[in-house]
Amino acid sequence: MAVMVTGGAGYIGAHVVRLLRERGDDLVVVDDLSTGEMGRVGDVPLVRFDLADGSTVDPLAAAMRDHRVGAVIHIAAKKQVGESAARPAWYYEQNVGGTAHLLQAMESAGVDQLMFSSSAATYGLPDLPPGSLIDEEATPRPISPYGETKLVAEWMSRAAGRAWGLRTVNLRYFNVAGAGWDDLGDPGVFNLIPIVLGQLIAGDQPKIFGDDYETPDGTCIRDYVHVLDLAQAHLAALDYLDRDTRPYDVFNVGTGAGASVRDVLDQVASSTGLTVDPEVVERRPGDPAQLVADVRRIEQTLGWKAEHDLAPIVDSAWSAWRAGR
Ligand code: UDP
Repeated sequence: MAVMVTGGAGYIGAHVVRLLRERGDDLVVVDDLSTGEMGRVGDVPLVRFDLADGSTVDPLAAAMRDHRVGAVIHIAAKKQVGESAARPAWYYEQNVGGTAHLLQAMESAGVDQLMFSSSAATYGLPDLPPGSLIDEEATPRPISPYGETKLVAEWMSRAAGRAWGLRTVNLRYFNVAGAGWDDLGDPGVFNLIPIVLGQLIAGDQPKIFGDDYETPDGTCIRDYVHVLDLAQAHLAALDYLDRDTRPYDVFNVGTGAGASVRDVLDQVASSTGLTVDPEVVERRPGDPAQLVADVRRIEQTLGWKAEHDLAPIVDSAWSAWRAGR
């Protein structure tokens, strides 16, 4: 049976596709190539569908049958928090609508295994004592339309499990960065590490969004996970779907260790050899002081653990950047 990877031509999807290809799985990629690039999937067949378009359901189901798809890894989505606040209905249409059409096609084609790319954005601003890790039992309270669409899609897959037997593993990604190969770097400049690399190259001063948080150095703490580790978690999730019968699971994907914005900037200085002289500016609205994953569940259940810490993440991001991303 083949694995269908939606968003397989994107930054994260292309890493998943390459790892699955390396271990010999049969694959088919679905991508609308809005941000993805054909060249990233190599010789894997790619079918071009816009999942948000309802007329896609029947041809998508036909593609699942044609390629003998047994499981879907659903990564395709819009993922910019700020853009989601500006265009909420469009984000719902894209991310919730896209997932709805995918599930309809899966039901029609009899494909009952789903790995869904969810996000730590589902947690919102966690009400935890300083320094605590967040586990999957925390009540999700997203504060952006982006986070809401991810949570609604999780719920949709759970309901489909009750209705027709879909089995889903939701992976809640924390801060994904780095590159597994130089040709698969993050082409988007929307997150801290690529933003800072871009600023340094352009000769601009990096910005720290607030240094008066309740953290040891006053800057926000996040859990940065190497995209290659994250991609490995997808393979572990697929294997789990194959061997287990539980209808629905949610797992954090992080390292369990936090890094502050200053830690990241220090690492960027050390990885690039460039001088990093940041300017501290106003807080960005909606930023939790700390968001670090409790990773015990994924370690115990899927047997997956991140292997890389911050240094190889920034080293590899810089290496891919220099290679032209
Ligand atoms: N950040 C920053 N300067 C920037 C971009 C981001 O200080 O130019 C901070 C941001 O406030 C957050 C952390 O870096 O605390 C990670 O931000 P990012 O947008 O990469 O991911 P998020 O955790 O918000 O999803």
